[in-house]
Amino acid sequence: MRVFVASLATETNTFSPVPTDLESFKESFYAPPGEHPDTPTLCSATHIICRERIPQLGWTLIEGTATWAEPGGLINRHTYELLRDEILDQISAALPLDGIVLGLHGAMVAQGYDDCEGDFLSRIREIVGTKVVIAAELDPHSHLTPLRVKHANVLIAFKEFPHTDFVDRAREVVDITIASIKGEVTPKISVFDCKMIEVLPTSREPMRSFVDKIQLLEQQPNVLSISVIHGFMAGDVPEMGTKLMVITDDQQNFGDDLAKRLGLELFSFRGNTRPPYLSPDRGLKEALSIIDGPVIVADIWDNPGGGVAGDSTILLKKLLQLKQQNVAIGTIWDPIAVRFCIAAGEGASIQLRFGGKSCGTAGGPVDALVKINKVVRKAVQSFGESVVPLGDAVCIELEGIEVILNSNRSQAFSPDLFSNLGIDPLAKQLLVVKSTNHFHGAFSKISEHIIYIDCGAPYPSNPITNNYKKLIRPIWPIVDDPHGLEDSIAASQEAAIGGTNHE
Ligand SMILES: [Zn+2]
Repeated sequence: MRVFVASLATETNTFSPVPTDLESFKESFYAPPGEHPDTPTLCSATHIICRERIPQLGWTLIEGTATWAEPGGLINRHTYELLRDEILDQISAALPLDGIVLGLHGAMVAQGYDDCEGDFLSRIREIVGTKVVIAAELDPHSHLTPLRVKHANVLIAFKEFPHTDFVDRAREVVDITIASIKGEVTPKISVFDCKMIEVLPTSREPMRSFVDKIQLLEQQPNVLSISVIHGFMAGDVPEMGTKLMVITDDQQNFGDDLAKRLGLELFSFRGNTRPPYLSPDRGLKEALSIIDGPVIVADIWDNPGGGVAGDSTILLKKLLQLKQQNVAIGTIWDPIAVRFCIAAGEGASIQLRFGGKSCGTAGGPVDALVKINKVVRKAVQSFGESVVPLGDAVCIELEGIEVILNSNRSQAFSPDLFSNLGIDPLAKQLLVVKSTNHFHGAFSKISEHIIYIDCGAPYPSNPITNNYKKLIRPIWPIVDDPHGLEDSIAASQEAAIGGTNHE
Protein backbone atom coordinates (compact mmCIF):
# COMPACT_ATOMS: atom_id res chain seq x y z
CA MET A 1 0.00 0.00 0.00
CA ARG A 2 1.11 3.57 -0.67
CA VAL A 3 0.27 6.58 1.51
CA PHE A 4 1.07 10.23 0.80
CA VAL A 5 1.32 12.90 3.50
CA ALA A 6 1.47 16.70 3.16
CA SER A 7 0.46 19.83 5.02
CA LEU A 8 -0.76 23.21 3.80
CA ALA A 9 -2.11 25.40 6.54
CA THR A 10 -2.81 28.83 7.89
CA GLU A 11 -5.69 30.67 9.54
CA THR A 12 -6.92 33.69 7.61
CA ASN A 13 -8.34 36.70 9.39
CA THR A 14 -10.07 38.39 6.46
CA PHE A 15 -10.20 41.63 8.48
CA SER A 16 -6.43 41.71 9.16
CA PRO A 17 -4.17 44.41 7.70
CA VAL A 18 -1.27 41.90 7.41
CA PRO A 19 -1.35 40.28 3.93
CA THR A 20 -0.08 36.70 3.67
CA ASP A 21 2.39 35.77 0.93
CA LEU A 22 4.97 33.08 0.17
CA GLU A 23 7.44 34.78 2.49
CA SER A 24 4.92 34.44 5.34
CA PHE A 25 4.87 30.64 4.84
CA LYS A 26 8.65 30.40 4.44
CA GLU A 27 9.41 32.43 7.57
CA SER A 28 6.93 30.45 9.70
CA PHE A 29 7.47 26.89 8.49
CA TYR A 30 8.34 25.37 5.15
CA ALA A 31 9.64 21.81 4.79
CA PRO A 32 10.03 20.35 1.28
CA PRO A 33 9.62 16.56 0.84
CA GLY A 34 11.79 14.59 3.26
CA GLU A 35 12.89 17.66 5.21
CA HIS A 36 10.21 17.78 7.88
CA PRO A 37 11.95 17.87 11.27
CA ASP A 38 11.45 15.07 13.81
CA THR A 39 9.25 17.33 15.94
CA PRO A 40 5.66 18.00 14.88
CA THR A 41 4.18 21.41 14.19
CA LEU A 42 0.58 22.20 15.07
CA CYS A 43 -0.69 21.36 11.59
CA SER A 44 1.87 18.75 10.51
CA ALA A 45 1.78 16.20 13.33
CA THR A 46 0.32 13.84 10.69
CA HIS A 47 3.80 13.80 9.07
CA ILE A 48 5.38 12.46 12.26
CA ILE A 49 2.64 9.92 12.95
CA CYS A 50 2.74 8.64 9.36
CA ARG A 51 6.50 8.11 9.77
CA GLU A 52 5.77 6.12 12.93
CA ARG A 53 2.93 4.02 11.60
CA ILE A 54 3.11 3.52 7.83
CA PRO A 55 6.53 1.85 7.37
CA GLN A 56 5.73 -0.39 10.38
CA LEU A 57 2.98 -1.98 8.26
CA GLY A 58 5.40 -2.66 5.43
CA TRP A 59 3.65 0.10 3.44
CA THR A 60 5.33 2.90 1.50
CA LEU A 61 5.14 6.48 2.78
CA ILE A 62 5.64 9.31 0.30
CA GLU A 63 6.23 12.68 1.93
CA GLY A 64 5.13 15.89 0.28
CA THR A 65 5.65 19.48 1.32
CA ALA A 66 4.58 20.69 4.75
CA THR A 67 4.09 24.41 5.24
CA TRP A 68 2.37 26.77 7.63
CA ALA A 69 2.04 30.54 7.84
CA GLU A 70 1.39 32.39 11.07
CA PRO A 71 -2.27 33.48 10.94
CA GLY A 72 -2.68 36.71 9.01
CA GLY A 73 -4.76 38.48 6.40
CA LEU A 74 -5.93 37.28 3.00
CA ILE A 75 -3.41 35.10 1.13
CA ASN A 76 -2.41 36.43 -2.22
CA ARG A 77 -3.82 34.29 -4.99
CA HIS A 78 -0.50 33.39 -6.58
CA THR A 79 0.90 32.11 -3.25
CA TYR A 80 -2.06 29.83 -2.58
CA GLU A 81 -2.08 28.46 -6.12
CA LEU A 82 1.70 27.92 -6.08
CA LEU A 83 1.69 25.95 -2.81
CA ARG A 84 -1.47 24.04 -3.75
CA ASP A 85 -0.09 23.06 -7.15
CA GLU A 86 3.27 22.08 -5.64
CA ILE A 87 1.48 19.45 -3.52
CA LEU A 88 -0.93 18.44 -6.32
CA ASP A 89 2.10 17.78 -8.58
CA GLN A 90 3.69 15.69 -5.81
CA ILE A 91 0.48 13.66 -5.55
CA SER A 92 0.34 13.11 -9.33
CA ALA A 93 3.97 11.95 -9.27
CA ALA A 94 3.29 9.57 -6.35
CA LEU A 95 0.42 7.67 -8.01
CA PRO A 96 -0.84 5.01 -7.57
CA LEU A 97 -1.88 5.80 -4.00
CA ASP A 98 -4.18 4.13 -1.47
CA GLY A 99 -4.37 6.94 1.04
CA ILE A 100 -3.64 10.64 1.43
CA VAL A 101 -3.17 12.18 4.88
CA LEU A 102 -3.19 15.96 5.13
CA GLY A 103 -2.41 18.41 7.87
CA LEU A 104 -4.74 21.29 7.12
CA HIS A 105 -5.91 24.07 9.37
CA GLY A 106 -9.20 24.73 7.71
CA ALA A 107 -9.56 28.52 7.88
CA MET A 108 -7.45 29.45 4.87
CA VAL A 109 -8.88 32.15 2.58
CA ALA A 110 -7.11 33.48 -0.52
CA GLN A 111 -7.92 36.15 -3.05
CA GLY A 112 -10.63 34.52 -5.17
CA TYR A 113 -10.93 31.45 -2.90
CA ASP A 114 -13.33 31.59 0.07
CA ASP A 115 -12.82 27.87 0.65
CA CYS A 116 -9.18 27.02 -0.06
CA GLU A 117 -9.32 23.61 1.65
CA GLY A 118 -12.51 22.68 -0.27
CA ASP A 119 -10.77 23.66 -3.50
CA PHE A 120 -7.63 21.72 -2.51
CA LEU A 121 -9.53 18.56 -1.52
CA SER A 122 -11.71 18.58 -4.63
CA ARG A 123 -8.64 18.90 -6.89
CA ILE A 124 -6.96 16.03 -5.04
CA ARG A 125 -10.10 13.92 -5.49
CA GLU A 126 -10.08 14.70 -9.19
CA ILE A 127 -6.50 13.44 -9.48
CA VAL A 128 -6.79 10.27 -7.37
CA GLY A 129 -10.38 9.16 -8.06
CA THR A 130 -13.04 7.92 -5.67
CA LYS A 131 -11.31 4.85 -4.21
CA VAL A 132 -8.38 6.55 -2.49
CA VAL A 133 -8.92 7.41 1.19
CA ILE A 134 -8.44 11.16 1.78
CA ALA A 135 -8.05 12.20 5.41
CA ALA A 136 -7.21 15.48 7.09
CA GLU A 137 -6.53 16.84 10.54
CA LEU A 138 -8.12 20.24 11.18
CA ASP A 139 -7.94 23.01 13.71
CA PRO A 140 -11.37 23.55 15.32
CA HIS A 141 -11.06 27.27 14.46
CA SER A 142 -11.93 26.46 10.89
CA HIS A 143 -14.83 26.53 8.46
CA LEU A 144 -16.48 23.20 7.65
CA THR A 145 -17.89 23.45 4.13
CA PRO A 146 -19.99 20.90 2.22
CA LEU A 147 -17.24 20.75 -0.44
CA ARG A 148 -14.73 19.47 2.13
CA VAL A 149 -17.15 16.90 3.51
CA LYS A 150 -17.93 15.73 -0.03
CA HIS A 151 -14.32 15.07 -1.01
CA ALA A 152 -12.73 13.88 2.25
CA ASN A 153 -13.34 10.49 3.88
CA VAL A 154 -11.96 11.39 7.29
CA LEU A 155 -11.87 14.84 8.92
CA ILE A 156 -10.80 15.18 12.56
CA ALA A 157 -10.30 18.42 14.50
CA PHE A 158 -8.28 18.97 17.67
CA LYS A 159 -10.63 18.57 20.63
CA GLU A 160 -8.80 20.79 23.05
CA PHE A 161 -8.55 24.58 23.09
CA PRO A 162 -5.69 25.23 23.97
CA HIS A 163 -4.76 22.70 21.28
CA THR A 164 -2.72 20.42 23.50
CA ASP A 165 -3.95 17.29 21.69
CA PHE A 166 -2.80 17.86 18.12
CA VAL A 167 -0.49 14.82 18.20
CA ASP A 168 -3.21 12.54 19.63
CA ARG A 169 -5.69 13.63 16.97
CA ALA A 170 -3.08 13.10 14.23
CA ARG A 171 -2.73 9.53 15.50
CA GLU A 172 -6.50 9.03 15.15
CA VAL A 173 -6.50 10.47 11.63
CA VAL A 174 -3.73 8.08 10.60
CA ASP A 175 -5.25 5.06 12.39
CA ILE A 176 -8.68 5.55 10.82
CA THR A 177 -7.04 6.06 7.42
CA ILE A 178 -5.15 2.77 7.82
CA ALA A 179 -8.29 0.90 8.93
CA SER A 180 -10.15 2.41 6.03
CA ILE A 181 -7.49 1.40 3.47
CA LYS A 182 -7.58 -2.12 4.90
CA GLY A 183 -11.36 -2.16 4.42
CA GLU A 184 -11.98 -2.63 8.15
CA VAL A 185 -14.16 0.51 8.39
CA THR A 186 -16.22 2.67 6.04
CA PRO A 187 -16.17 6.23 7.41
CA LYS A 188 -19.33 8.28 6.90
CA ILE A 189 -19.32 11.95 7.90
CA SER A 190 -22.38 13.59 9.50
CA VAL A 191 -22.47 17.34 10.12
CA PHE A 192 -24.86 19.51 12.13
CA ASP A 193 -24.70 23.29 11.71
CA CYS A 194 -24.99 24.76 15.23
CA LYS A 195 -25.63 28.19 13.64
CA MET A 196 -23.56 30.04 16.22
CA ILE A 197 -20.13 31.55 16.72
CA GLU A 198 -18.61 31.64 20.17
CA VAL A 199 -15.27 31.33 21.96
CA LEU A 200 -15.20 27.76 23.30
CA PRO A 201 -12.22 27.14 25.60
CA THR A 202 -12.07 23.55 26.81
CA SER A 203 -9.92 24.49 29.79
CA ARG A 204 -13.15 25.42 31.63
CA GLU A 205 -16.81 24.43 31.92
CA PRO A 206 -19.12 23.75 30.19
CA MET A 207 -16.81 22.74 27.32
CA ARG A 208 -14.53 20.64 29.55
CA SER A 209 -17.34 18.21 30.37
CA PHE A 210 -18.65 18.32 26.81
CA VAL A 211 -15.30 17.19 25.39
CA ASP A 212 -15.03 14.47 28.05
CA LYS A 213 -18.51 13.32 27.08
CA ILE A 214 -17.81 13.12 23.35
CA GLN A 215 -14.66 11.13 24.09
CA LEU A 216 -16.78 8.63 25.98
CA LEU A 217 -19.25 8.51 23.09
CA GLU A 218 -16.36 7.70 20.74
CA GLN A 219 -15.98 4.42 22.58
CA GLN A 220 -19.35 3.26 21.27
CA PRO A 221 -19.19 0.72 18.47
CA ASN A 222 -19.62 2.36 15.06
CA VAL A 223 -18.59 5.83 16.27
CA LEU A 224 -15.14 6.48 14.79
CA SER A 225 -14.73 10.13 15.75
CA ILE A 226 -16.57 13.22 16.98
CA SER A 227 -15.24 16.74 16.36
CA VAL A 228 -16.44 20.16 17.37
CA ILE A 229 -15.63 22.75 14.71
CA HIS A 230 -15.63 25.89 16.84
CA GLY A 231 -15.51 28.18 13.80
CA PHE A 232 -13.36 31.26 13.29
CA MET A 233 -15.20 34.57 13.64
CA ALA A 234 -12.49 36.62 11.91
CA GLY A 235 -13.10 34.76 8.65
CA ASP A 236 -15.84 36.41 6.61
CA VAL A 237 -16.85 33.38 4.54
CA PRO A 238 -20.29 31.85 3.87
CA GLU A 239 -19.83 28.73 6.06
CA MET A 240 -18.30 30.44 9.11
CA GLY A 241 -19.65 29.11 12.43
CA THR A 242 -19.74 26.26 14.91
CA LYS A 243 -20.49 22.77 13.56
CA LEU A 244 -20.68 19.35 15.10
CA MET A 245 -19.16 16.51 13.06
CA VAL A 246 -19.58 12.80 13.72
CA ILE A 247 -17.83 10.06 11.75
CA THR A 248 -19.48 6.65 11.97
CA ASP A 249 -18.59 3.29 10.53
CA ASP A 250 -21.20 3.30 7.75
CA GLN A 251 -24.09 4.48 9.96
CA GLN A 252 -25.14 7.70 8.25
CA ASN A 253 -28.58 8.07 9.87
CA PHE A 254 -27.29 7.27 13.35
CA GLY A 255 -24.44 9.76 12.81
CA ASP A 256 -26.81 12.47 11.58
CA ASP A 257 -29.00 12.05 14.69
CA LEU A 258 -26.03 12.06 17.06
CA ALA A 259 -24.54 15.15 15.38
CA LYS A 260 -27.86 16.98 15.74
CA ARG A 261 -28.34 15.98 19.38
CA LEU A 262 -24.82 17.02 20.37
CA GLY A 263 -24.96 20.12 18.18
CA LEU A 264 -28.10 21.41 19.88
CA GLU A 265 -26.56 20.71 23.29
CA LEU A 266 -23.54 22.76 22.24
CA PHE A 267 -25.85 25.53 21.00
CA SER A 268 -27.41 25.67 24.48
CA PHE A 269 -23.99 26.70 25.91
CA ARG A 270 -23.92 29.95 23.89
CA GLY A 271 -23.06 33.01 25.94
CA ASN A 272 -21.75 30.90 28.84
CA THR A 273 -18.44 29.48 27.67
CA ARG A 274 -15.95 32.33 27.98
CA PRO A 275 -13.89 33.20 31.01
CA PRO A 276 -14.63 36.66 32.44
CA TYR A 277 -13.04 39.29 30.19
CA LEU A 278 -12.21 42.53 32.01
CA SER A 279 -11.68 46.06 30.72
CA PRO A 280 -8.03 47.26 30.70
CA ASP A 281 -8.55 49.50 33.76
CA ARG A 282 -10.38 46.93 35.81
CA GLY A 283 -8.15 44.05 34.70
CA LEU A 284 -4.92 45.85 35.56
CA LYS A 285 -6.34 47.04 38.88
CA GLU A 286 -7.23 43.47 39.76
CA ALA A 287 -3.86 42.15 38.56
CA LEU A 288 -1.95 44.73 40.60
CA SER A 289 -3.91 43.94 43.74
CA ILE A 290 -2.49 40.41 43.81
CA ILE A 291 0.63 40.29 45.95
CA ASP A 292 2.26 37.01 44.99
CA GLY A 293 3.39 37.13 41.38
CA PRO A 294 3.75 36.38 38.67
CA VAL A 295 0.24 37.38 37.60
CA ILE A 296 -0.47 36.47 33.99
CA VAL A 297 -2.37 39.15 32.07
CA ALA A 298 -3.64 38.08 28.66
CA ASP A 299 -4.24 40.76 26.04
CA ILE A 300 -6.75 38.45 24.37
CA TRP A 301 -7.58 40.39 21.20
CA ASP A 302 -4.04 41.31 20.19
CA ASN A 303 -3.33 37.69 19.46
CA PRO A 304 -1.25 37.10 16.31
CA GLY A 305 -2.61 33.55 16.47
CA GLY A 306 -5.90 35.09 15.37
CA GLY A 307 -4.26 36.84 12.43
CA VAL A 308 -3.74 40.36 13.80
CA ALA A 309 -0.33 42.00 13.77
CA GLY A 310 0.35 41.64 17.48
CA ASP A 311 1.77 45.12 17.89
CA SER A 312 -0.81 46.71 20.19
CA THR A 313 0.59 49.10 22.78
CA ILE A 314 -2.67 49.72 24.65
CA LEU A 315 -1.72 47.80 27.81
CA LEU A 316 1.91 48.98 27.75
CA LYS A 317 0.76 52.60 27.69
CA LYS A 318 -1.61 51.96 30.61
CA LEU A 319 1.19 50.32 32.60
CA LEU A 320 3.52 53.25 31.88
CA GLN A 321 0.82 55.66 33.09
CA LEU A 322 0.43 53.58 36.25
CA LYS A 323 4.23 53.69 36.70
CA GLN A 324 4.34 49.94 37.15
CA GLN A 325 7.70 48.23 37.42
CA ASN A 326 8.79 44.62 37.42
CA VAL A 327 6.59 43.87 34.41
CA ALA A 328 7.46 41.93 31.25
CA ILE A 329 5.46 42.01 28.01
CA GLY A 330 5.68 39.26 25.38
CA THR A 331 5.54 40.27 22.62
CA ILE A 332 5.16 43.35 20.46
CA TRP A 333 5.79 42.68 16.78
CA ASP A 334 7.99 45.30 15.18
CA PRO A 335 10.63 44.12 12.70
CA ILE A 336 11.93 47.64 12.07
CA ALA A 337 12.45 48.36 15.77
CA VAL A 338 14.14 44.96 16.18
CA ARG A 339 16.52 45.87 13.39
CA PHE A 340 17.34 49.22 15.00
CA CYS A 341 18.00 47.52 18.35
CA ILE A 342 20.25 44.87 16.80
CA ALA A 343 22.20 47.60 15.03
CA ALA A 344 22.62 49.52 18.29
CA GLY A 345 23.66 46.35 20.14
CA GLU A 346 23.15 44.76 23.56
CA GLY A 347 23.65 47.19 26.42
CA ALA A 348 23.02 50.29 24.29
CA SER A 349 20.35 52.87 25.11
CA ILE A 350 18.52 54.44 22.16
CA GLN A 351 15.52 56.61 21.44
CA LEU A 352 13.10 54.15 19.82
CA ARG A 353 9.67 54.29 18.20
CA PHE A 354 8.01 50.87 18.43
CA GLY A 355 4.64 49.10 18.21
CA GLY A 356 1.16 50.30 17.31
CA LYS A 357 1.89 50.80 13.62
CA SER A 358 -0.20 48.14 11.88
CA CYS A 359 -3.63 49.71 12.16
CA GLY A 360 -5.58 52.55 13.73
CA THR A 361 -6.82 50.49 16.69
CA ALA A 362 -3.48 49.14 17.97
CA GLY A 363 -2.81 52.01 20.38
CA GLY A 364 -0.29 53.96 18.30
CA PRO A 365 3.50 53.75 18.59
CA VAL A 366 5.49 54.32 21.78
CA ASP A 367 8.40 56.79 21.65
CA ALA A 368 10.86 56.26 24.47
CA LEU A 369 14.46 56.00 25.55
CA VAL A 370 15.00 52.25 25.85
CA LYS A 371 17.88 50.06 27.01
CA ILE A 372 18.59 46.97 24.93
CA ASN A 373 19.01 44.18 27.46
CA LYS A 374 19.26 41.20 25.13
CA VAL A 375 19.49 40.39 21.44
CA VAL A 376 18.67 36.88 20.20
CA ARG A 377 18.91 35.98 16.53
CA LYS A 378 16.35 33.39 15.39
CA ALA A 379 14.69 33.27 18.81
CA VAL A 380 12.12 30.56 19.58
CA GLN A 381 9.59 29.48 22.17
CA SER A 382 8.07 26.07 22.74
CA PHE A 383 4.47 24.97 22.28
CA GLY A 384 4.07 21.45 23.63
CA GLU A 385 6.43 19.33 21.55
CA SER A 386 6.80 21.92 18.81
CA VAL A 387 9.26 24.78 18.44
CA VAL A 388 7.80 28.13 17.38
CA PRO A 389 10.03 30.70 15.65
CA LEU A 390 9.97 34.31 16.83
CA GLY A 391 12.50 35.56 14.28
CA ASP A 392 15.19 37.90 15.49
CA ALA A 393 14.05 39.27 18.84
CA VAL A 394 15.22 41.74 21.47
CA CYS A 395 14.39 42.51 25.06
CA ILE A 396 14.19 46.25 25.70
CA GLU A 397 13.59 47.99 29.01
CA LEU A 398 11.85 51.28 29.67
CA GLU A 399 10.86 52.66 33.07
CA GLY A 400 11.10 49.26 34.76
CA ILE A 401 9.09 47.44 32.10
CA GLU A 402 10.77 44.85 29.90
CA VAL A 403 9.28 44.34 26.45
CA ILE A 404 10.14 41.62 23.95
CA LEU A 405 10.08 42.88 20.39
CA ASN A 406 10.02 40.19 17.71
CA SER A 407 10.23 40.07 13.94
CA ASN A 408 8.14 36.92 13.23
CA ARG A 409 4.61 37.36 14.50
CA SER A 410 3.68 34.80 17.13
CA GLN A 411 1.35 34.60 20.09
CA ALA A 412 2.67 33.70 23.54
CA PHE A 413 2.65 29.96 24.14
CA SER A 414 5.09 29.25 26.92
CA PRO A 415 7.12 30.98 29.68
CA ASP A 416 10.32 30.12 27.80
CA LEU A 417 9.29 32.98 25.53
CA PHE A 418 10.57 35.18 28.38
CA SER A 419 13.48 33.09 29.65
CA ASN A 420 14.91 32.68 26.13
CA LEU A 421 15.15 36.50 26.02
CA GLY A 422 16.92 36.73 29.37
CA ILE A 423 13.86 37.48 31.52
CA ASP A 424 13.14 35.31 34.57
CA PRO A 425 9.34 34.92 34.34
CA LEU A 426 9.06 33.78 37.96
CA ALA A 427 10.73 36.95 39.22
CA LYS A 428 8.21 39.28 37.56
CA GLN A 429 5.12 40.69 39.22
CA LEU A 430 3.17 40.89 35.94
CA LEU A 431 3.64 38.95 32.73
CA VAL A 432 1.58 40.39 29.88
CA VAL A 433 1.03 37.90 27.05
CA LYS A 434 -0.62 38.33 23.67
CA SER A 435 -2.86 35.28 23.35
CA THR A 436 -6.54 34.38 23.67
CA ASN A 437 -6.20 30.99 25.28
CA HIS A 438 -3.22 28.96 23.99
CA PHE A 439 -0.95 30.47 26.63
CA HIS A 440 -3.08 28.89 29.32
CA GLY A 441 -1.63 25.37 29.15
CA ALA A 442 1.97 26.30 29.96
CA PHE A 443 1.47 29.56 31.89
CA SER A 444 -1.08 28.05 34.29
CA LYS A 445 1.77 25.81 35.47
CA ILE A 446 3.74 28.81 36.77
CA SER A 447 0.85 30.88 38.16
CA GLU A 448 -2.67 30.40 39.39
CA HIS A 449 -3.43 34.09 38.78
CA ILE A 450 -4.63 34.59 35.23
CA ILE A 451 -6.51 37.69 34.13
CA TYR A 452 -8.07 38.11 30.69
CA ILE A 453 -8.24 41.68 29.41
CA ASP A 454 -10.46 42.74 26.52
CA CYS A 455 -9.00 45.88 24.92
CA GLY A 456 -11.71 45.65 22.26
CA ALA A 457 -9.16 45.63 19.43
CA PRO A 458 -7.63 44.95 17.00
CA TYR A 459 -9.24 41.48 16.47
CA PRO A 460 -12.86 41.62 15.20
CA SER A 461 -14.24 40.12 18.39
CA ASN A 462 -17.89 41.08 18.18
CA PRO A 463 -19.85 39.18 15.50
CA ILE A 464 -22.73 41.65 15.80
CA THR A 465 -20.60 44.62 14.72
CA ASN A 466 -18.08 42.81 12.51
CA ASN A 467 -19.91 43.80 9.34
CA TYR A 468 -19.70 40.47 7.54
CA LYS A 469 -20.32 40.60 3.80
CA LYS A 470 -20.09 36.93 2.84
CA LEU A 471 -21.54 35.36 5.97
CA ILE A 472 -25.25 35.58 5.28
CA ARG A 473 -26.48 32.41 7.08
CA PRO A 474 -28.43 33.35 10.20
CA ILE A 475 -26.16 32.55 13.17
CA TRP A 476 -26.19 33.48 16.85
CA PRO A 477 -25.41 36.11 18.23
CA ILE A 478 -26.26 38.03 15.04
CA VAL A 479 -29.66 36.29 15.12
CA ASP A 480 -31.26 35.32 18.46
CA ASP A 481 -32.98 32.09 17.48
CA PRO A 482 -31.43 30.74 14.25
CA HIS A 483 -32.86 27.24 14.74
CA GLY A 484 -36.42 28.51 15.22
CA LEU A 485 -36.43 26.75 18.60
CA GLU A 486 -38.79 29.29 20.15
CA ASP A 487 -41.29 28.72 17.31
CA SER A 488 -41.11 24.98 17.76
CA ILE A 489 -41.53 25.26 21.56
CA ALA A 490 -44.55 27.55 21.01
CA ALA A 491 -45.97 25.12 18.44
CA SER A 492 -45.58 22.14 20.76
CA GLN A 493 -47.17 24.09 23.63
CA GLU A 494 -50.07 25.00 21.33
CA ALA A 495 -50.41 21.38 20.26
CA ALA A 496 -50.41 20.29 23.91
CA ILE A 497 -53.11 22.83 24.76
CA GLY A 498 -55.07 21.84 21.66
CA GLY A 499 -54.84 18.18 22.66
CA THR A 500 -56.12 18.90 26.16
CA ASN A 501 -59.08 20.82 24.78
CA HIS A 502 -59.89 18.06 22.37
CA GLU A 503 -60.10 15.56 25.17
ZN1 LIG B 1 -7.24 27.02 16.75
